[in-house]
Amino acid sequence: MNFIQTRGCDDTKPKSVTFSEAILSPIASFGGLYVPENLPQLGIEFLTKHLASSYKELASDLLAKFEIDIDDAVIAEALALYDNFDDATNPVPVVKVKENLYVSELYHGPTRAFKDMALQPFGKILSSVAQKKEENYLILAATSGDTGPAALETFKNQKNIQVVCMYPANGTSDVQRLQMVTEDASNLKVIGIKGNFDDAQSALKNLLASDSFKDTLKEKHISLSAANSVNFGRIIFQIVYHIHNYLELIRQDAIVMGEKVYLNVPSGNFGNVLGGFYAQMMGLPVEKLIISSNENNILTRLIQTGIYDIRDGDLKLTTSPAMDILKSSNVERVLYELYGADRTRELMEDLDKNNIYTLTADELCKLQEIFVADYCSDDEGKEYIKSAFSDGYLMDPHTATCFKAYETKTNQNIKSIIYSTAEWTKFSPVIANALTGEENAEDMKALATISKEAKVEIPDMIKALFTKEIIHSSVIEKEDIEKEILKFL
Ligand SMILES: *Cc1c(COP(=O)(O)O)cnc(C)c1O
Repeated sequence: MNFIQTRGCDDTKPKSVTFSEAILSPIASFGGLYVPENLPQLGIEFLTKHLASSYKELASDLLAKFEIDIDDAVIAEALALYDNFDDATNPVPVVKVKENLYVSELYHGPTRAFKDMALQPFGKILSSVAQKKEENYLILAATSGDTGPAALETFKNQKNIQVVCMYPANGTSDVQRLQMVTEDASNLKVIGIKGNFDDAQSALKNLLASDSFKDTLKEKHISLSAANSVNFGRIIFQIVYHIHNYLELIRQDAIVMGEKVYLNVPSGNFGNVLGGFYAQMMGLPVEKLIISSNENNILTRLIQTGIYDIRDGDLKLTTSPAMDILKSSNVERVLYELYGADRTRELMEDLDKNNIYTLTADELCKLQEIFVADYCSDDEGKEYIKSAFSDGYLMDPHTATCFKAYETKTNQNIKSIIYSTAEWTKFSPVIANALTGEENAEDMKALATISKEAKVEIPDMIKALFTKEIIHSSVIEKEDIEKEILKFL
């Protein structure tokens, strides 16, 4: 299957490209994104057939439906990485929390957050495409915390790929920072930028605009690629677990085949819930897709009013930082599926020029048939962490946002699946504060508090981070970033 462009084609790029091309250079004509030419239809037969399948068998059959230009052996190697998750037979446990409420835990991979679900297999596939083309790629990433560790973990020692990861020196948790600065591989470089996430991102933007940087890459025969969450090579793996979760509920005798369920997803750049949207378009029985966010409630306002408005440009820092976002890039793919390329281009151009777009009443209706949304403040989130804990479930602040929309937006007679995107170990100070009132603890202390309160062991891999050798110690001003990277290359 080939991939086409959300904003149509400007004739500087081919009308359609292969999967390999779409993942190597993910930005399409007019600044749009690549989408599959059509979505394969699964039908109840597909679901029934996979009731007894393993996660990998389901994933491999689903990927086959997209007929992508990647060898079966490479796909098998990529999917084998799920064997390294906590339970090799089931990388995504679905846990019953109370009557009609289930949590799908997407954090059982090597860096303890949902980013591993896609980045683990994606890293293998990107490296194999680069090797086949005999080209070298540089991946630049600015991370607020979860993408960085997951990208480093997946690309370490992969041939034909180098990664430079920039993180805000005072913007990540201790665990997130240690996960990055202790990664030891010659193709990885991790740089702390003095400042916050915006500073890291603007350092990256300046670099991408620099001619001397581009010239150096050319001289060294290195091309730029990207592993960010608009890359369809990540999205494709994020369709699988939505289907897996549905099958899990059938296996647990919670639902019968064909029964509709809510999928309730803590959302930022909209990659996770987009996978659910595609699964529904492909035939998964979904009642509604629920978008949960924090006080950066741009998505809630879009779904409730049809207006995407970021004119005030006001980004709040919350206790669920992976969802602190104004421009939620993957929404564009939904616009394309619902309204077509011409209209998508119009809307996105409005957003680029005026920081706002407005859907028509008919368009809003179509959107609301599929999605509902609500947002949750930090204080509400802490209350949900506390009350879920007293029901026996320990969760992180991103997951907690879903409990608000579960209360306000769902019919609780219908089964809900809430997506848990991070292990408690990654955001321990917030959780310790919710459980005991302990303020501003460092990660080490907060981990110990939670471990004692909840009678859970701190996982060895997390404990080990605090004694591991620091490999990447540079923390620099954002102006010095180019010099630092050229040294590495
Ligand atoms: C990335 C991330 C999210 C947001 O996912 P999107 O696909 O960007 O919507 C939510 N929670 C955690 C912990 C994450 O790392």
